Amino acid sequence: MIPDWIVYVLAPLIGSFLGVLIRRWPTGRPVVYGRSCCDHCGTRLGPRDLVPLVSWLAARGRCRHCRAPIGEFYPLVELAALAVALWAGTFDSGAALWLDCLLGWALLTLAWIDAEHLLLPDILTLPLILLGLAAAWFLRWPPLVDAAAGAAAGYLTFRLLALAYRRVRGREGLGTGDAKLLAAGGAWLGWQALGDVVLGAALVGILWFVATRPPARSDETPVAGPAELPFGPALAISIWVVRLYGPFLG
Ligand SMILES: [Zn+2]
Repeated sequence: MIPDWIVYVLAPLIGSFLGVLIRRWPTGRPVVYGRSCCDHCGTRLGPRDLVPLVSWLAARGRCRHCRAPIGEFYPLVELAALAVALWAGTFDSGAALWLDCLLGWALLTLAWIDAEHLLLPDILTLPLILLGLAAAWFLRWPPLVDAAAGAAAGYLTFRLLALAYRRVRGREGLGTGDAKLLAAGGAWLGWQALGDVVLGAALVGILWFVATRPPARSDETPVAGPAELPFGPALAISIWVVRLYGPFLG
């Protein structure tokens, strides 16, 4: 059995990798070699430059070589990955904690990419579905039948909704990425939790919409809000909360 503290030590390192994934995957730059050089001056970064959080703090957020500001993005993702692990650690230990973290880190990455690019890459959602099914197979949590039904029902629900929306409004409302993410939620939580996940995501989505809506001006007709809202972050938060706190509809 691997002791739980290892997950907290690894979390910021994994956060570094997730940062590279978030920054590079949508632009098609290679992810495998990680953040190997300064984006500004191109100097190769050594181990000293890549210690999560510590390097950034020590160099006061600047490149050690060219002094260009690095920005808060990497330390933020590293902190977020650590927060996911600590949050999960207040609920679970052992294998369950590792699984929580795998799910949480994947959701964090998906939410971040979707918020920036309106994109939920298959390369993340599809493995997440398989991992949920595998966890159900080995740990029976939830039972495999419930997990498989959850994945199928999650995908079909959102695809049917998207088709209906296109019929009525004549444009796309929900992407197939959202359907695959809900399928992942179904695989991890079982079909019984899908109602909670969708309701929770709708609530988060409404809050997000209100929070990011530009302020209404009196000389204008009501503001319609942004044309396209990423739904992935709301879904990701909802899946995470239902995973840790359990379904709230009973
Ligand atoms: Zn530099």
